[in-house]
Amino acid sequence: MKNIPELFGSMVFNDTVMRERLPKDAYKALKKTMSQGTHLELDVANAVANAMKDWAVEKGATHFTHWFQPMTGTTAEKHDSFISPVGDGRVIMEFSGKELVRGEPDASSFPSGGLRATFEARGYTVWDITSYAFIKDGTLCIPTAFCSYSGEALDKKTPLLRSMEAVDKQALRILKLFGNTAATRVMAEVGPEQEYFLLDKAAYLKRPDLIYTGRTLFGARPPKGQELDDHYFGAIKPRVSAFMKELDEELWKLGVCAKTKHNEVAPAQHELASIFSTTNIATDHNQLMMELMKSIADKHGLACLLHEKPFAGVNGSGKHNNWSISANNCGNLLEPGETPHENAQFLLFLVAVIKAVDEYQDLLRVSVASAGNDHRLGANEAPPAIVSMFIGDELTEVLEALETGADYRNREKLQMEIGVSVLPHFPRDTTDRNRTSPFAFTGNKFEFRMPGSSFSISGPNIVLNTAVAEVLRQFADELEPSEDLTGDLAKLVKKTFSAHKRIIFNGNNYSAEWVTEAERRGLSNLKTTVDALPAFISRKNIELFTKHNVFSETEIQSRYEILMEGYCKTLHIEALTMADLVRGCIIPACVAYQNELSELLGRKKSCGEYDVSLEDHLLKHIAKLSACLLKKLTVLEDVLLEARDQEDIFAHASFTRDKVFPAMSELRLIADELETLVAKKYWPLPSYAELLYSVN
Ligand code: ADP
Ligand code: MG
Repeated sequence: MKNIPELFGSMVFNDTVMRERLPKDAYKALKKTMSQGTHLELDVANAVANAMKDWAVEKGATHFTHWFQPMTGTTAEKHDSFISPVGDGRVIMEFSGKELVRGEPDASSFPSGGLRATFEARGYTVWDITSYAFIKDGTLCIPTAFCSYSGEALDKKTPLLRSMEAVDKQALRILKLFGNTAATRVMAEVGPEQEYFLLDKAAYLKRPDLIYTGRTLFGARPPKGQELDDHYFGAIKPRVSAFMKELDEELWKLGVCAKTKHNEVAPAQHELASIFSTTNIATDHNQLMMELMKSIADKHGLACLLHEKPFAGVNGSGKHNNWSISANNCGNLLEPGETPHENAQFLLFLVAVIKAVDEYQDLLRVSVASAGNDHRLGANEAPPAIVSMFIGDELTEVLEALETGADYRNREKLQMEIGVSVLPHFPRDTTDRNRTSPFAFTGNKFEFRMPGSSFSISGPNIVLNTAVAEVLRQFADELEPSEDLTGDLAKLVKKTFSAHKRIIFNGNNYSAEWVTEAERRGLSNLKTTVDALPAFISRKNIELFTKHNVFSETEIQSRYEILMEGYCKTLHIEALTMADLVRGCIIPACVAYQNELSELLGRKKSCGEYDVSLEDHLLKHIAKLSACLLKKLTVLEDVLLEARDQEDIFAHASFTRDKVFPAMSELRLIADELETLVAKKYWPLPSYAELLYSVN
């Protein structure tokens, strides 16, 4: 039995290690930089680098890397060894403060949405002191932000850090109003829940569609899918369990608090949740989690699928983003609290989030938009593309009572000075009954359920942090000059709830009635990525981001292009893979089986005494469908050519959505029907059943 507390964080250059290994002055200076964002002097950086290197070398590391998160959505690393020649044919291990603090990867091949063409080819990586360095696979990894020569962000970390600063600044203003002048930091915190599929590697390798695109582009429905719900929370198979154990241990070594693991609804689907931390660290850790899931699965002869919708007709995978904000001296600001004073503050933060979600519902939708997630949002297992909020009946009643001036349920009629009824001690679990809501209040945090499983959680949290910061700014601007704070506060809570309660929906988000009702309420329903992304570059949203210095206008434009391009490229690769498979594998399989059937038919006929109706029927049916398959393939290939002629990225993406995607769906339909007719020995791809039940 391993000693877990000892194992935990053993590969992390964390606070304990720093205190042990850094000279006192350097440690103090570093801590100051961490907590107050002050400039880090070079001599301090040198001392830290040296201590880091010694520690890493003792742990067997030979290289270091600036670990960063470019716009690809995954992480990037370029390894440099510590070795430095000393002239007599020998080397020593060296690592300087300069190398620690800044790197200059020639990163011109990362997507920049035109940013680097206009500025400079070079990219810079800059040490993110707030996220600890760690050792992964013999390399000291230094979490860094990645930007261009002129300081434009080229990654997912920089704007996230900026958004955390924005919410920190505005939330502190609100706390001051409530007399909390001692708080110096408000942190946005997140606990992500990560869903994934595990398949047997050998079966996976027989599916080029999975290899190239992460999802199955063909596949008839299996005889048994998830109908019985017998996989959910079921006993974990030994092979999966061995994988999960190793994953937990490797994550713990890296200081990632992997906590809960279980089987999910679909066969072969699982989930892992880690304990929440600041949005920055949670994002880093979630990236590490996804990376390790893939590499450890491989070691166990498994393949880990992080795609949002690997199988049609089977639940897709999401990533629930549990978000809250907390102050360094009083904890979670979304905790309703026990006293009237805390309740009033809670209600103000609550309506701030309600307003933020209502006003920036389009941006939240943008933050979860991708070709992969388009298959999931709106399907029967995931929230719809309409953003709404669930706050539970209890809180809704409290806010409604406030709005109308009625006493809350006529019980506990304690009226506070500010006119806010004291919240009765409300049981936490009454707030988490609605699993269909895209944005649910779950007792002391909000659970945003729209992000896809392969996403970096950076995007959704950038939007959340910034939108909430903006509303808090408005609230602080309004309340700071007030001479009757208690009265004005009550009015503000009431006014905000009245203006934004349309976003609250405690019913079933999967129902058809909700779509109609949401439309009546004027909520946006941006069904696909192409419908959603233009909201990113709307005036209102550019103003939001630029006002809080989270994105410059150029950065937004460039990101919009990267996202649109990503959509087009993903579908293009999928379409080409389909065409390849149809031409190279599926048509030959159909031909081979037809050949067998017709030979048999010929033989039987020549004997003149057999019933040939079966062969005749099958042959005709397969021949007809095969011809149709070829026709659909030609249509797909034609629209792919036409897609190239679209004049700009938006036209290209719209064309892809309207023409390429439907052509793919039609081609698949025919191929899937053929799969049910052609003899298994000829069919070139493992079936859904073989994939979903491949791990035993
Ligand atoms: P459930 O499984 O019912 O959704 P859990 O209590 O297991 O709920 O929490 C799920 C995730 O929410 C975990 O990652 C957990 O760490 C995180 N979480 C819990 N409290 C908070 C909080 N105050 N802020 C942010 N995340 C939180
Ligand atoms: Mg949850």
